[in-house]
Amino acid sequence: MKHSSKHFLLINPWIYDTAAYDFWLKPLGLLYIGSILKNYGFKVNMIDLMNRHDKYFKENNLIKDRYYGTGKYYFEEVEKPEIIRDIPRKLKRYGLPEKEFRKRLENYKEVDGIIVTSTMTYWYYGVYKTIEIIREVFPEKRIFLGGIYVSIMPEHAKQYFHKLNVKVIPGTGNMAVNQLLSYYDIKVDTINWVEELEPAYELYEDEISYIVITSSIGCPFKCTYCFTPRMWKYQIRSVKSIIKGLKKILEFKKVKDVVFFDDAFLLHPEKERLLEELSKFNVRFHLPNGIHARLVNEKIAELFSKANFKVIKLGYETSNEELQKKTGGKVTNEELLKATKFLLANGLNETSAYIMANLPDQKVEDVISGIDFCFDLGIIPSVNEFTPIPNTPQYMELVSRGWLKMDTDPLLLNNSILPHWWKYGMSVEEIEMIKSYLRVKKNKFN
Ligand code: SF4
Repeated sequence: MKHSSKHFLLINPWIYDTAAYDFWLKPLGLLYIGSILKNYGFKVNMIDLMNRHDKYFKENNLIKDRYYGTGKYYFEEVEKPEIIRDIPRKLKRYGLPEKEFRKRLENYKEVDGIIVTSTMTYWYYGVYKTIEIIREVFPEKRIFLGGIYVSIMPEHAKQYFHKLNVKVIPGTGNMAVNQLLSYYDIKVDTINWVEELEPAYELYEDEISYIVITSSIGCPFKCTYCFTPRMWKYQIRSVKSIIKGLKKILEFKKVKDVVFFDDAFLLHPEKERLLEELSKFNVRFHLPNGIHARLVNEKIAELFSKANFKVIKLGYETSNEELQKKTGGKVTNEELLKATKFLLANGLNETSAYIMANLPDQKVEDVISGIDFCFDLGIIPSVNEFTPIPNTPQYMELVSRGWLKMDTDPLLLNNSILPHWWKYGMSVEEIEMIKSYLRVKKNKFN
């Protein structure tokens, strides 16, 4: 059934953080919500405050591209909220300037509802500041808030956004859309959107420098620190549909870089056929979300190379075998070694592995030995600092140890803020030492 009478405006909010980089960040969930709504015949527009290629940045010569469509965001320093006021880090608002955002909103006086997304839990403050502006411009309009933060912490979102009269919609896909439409007394049939629809990239009127797609949603593993398996049912998209969708998007968005945002890319049952099909496109592919090293073999490495994959990140996290097992057992040192060997032998020399620093019970030496192990294999690791994600088993364990409170403000959990106050993990100095160790090794390696 078509419902052409309603008009929605989607908004990808600002990021407020101490540091942020556009490492292929596109609001994939929001683009899918746009696609589902359009499929039912609703009118949809979007303001992506985080599009670095927005016409405002182009006109003002503010685009700072780096490799493969990634780049630096425009930012302005902002005042810190009370809870992190004493942390010696500057807070920045990344994305479109406020004045320009207000101007854009004025074009959408006639919309029936505004849908804002959210991602990281510790970015909720940027979402709040975005909605504060929307509420000022449109005191009466319905504003909906969905996305990952809301699905992880629905009660926090309901309480915090109550004063802005925001309707909080936890959950994903059909469920979220139906809940939203119930405010208009509209009911729609469910649709297999993973299979049938593409993210609505046509909502970008301006240029974009890459697209992000997915061949599956969710992950069947259950790592203790990760929310993905707790948020999504693991679903795969057929090869036919992935290829059809990609062709369709590339017809109107002529980008050179295509990024798979899967959490479990190599678990696709038809991955070899998928990679064969991808090799017929004239683009570069990237896998930034940490693939499963266990599933990389000679054939897969050959196919990655044939399909022109460039940045490939392997999920490694820690070299400590006990911790590997304790956190979910997705990888062993031996598996990382084999995967790396196959990938490098096929010329995939932008392969890297993620290492986590500051995992509970992890020693500085663990991180250092993980870094050494990667360099010995011939790859440069990326070190990410651990962020406790509320409502994961890892978080609950920290609560039961008395190391975190159930209601610790997510702003304090941001990995760049955590070492400044949390006495159960690594100190700021230790983290700095790890980073400088990595820098020195990188320089030597290069
Ligand atoms: S394998 Fe990756 S996506 Fe899957 S549960 Fe573990 S960390 Fe999360």
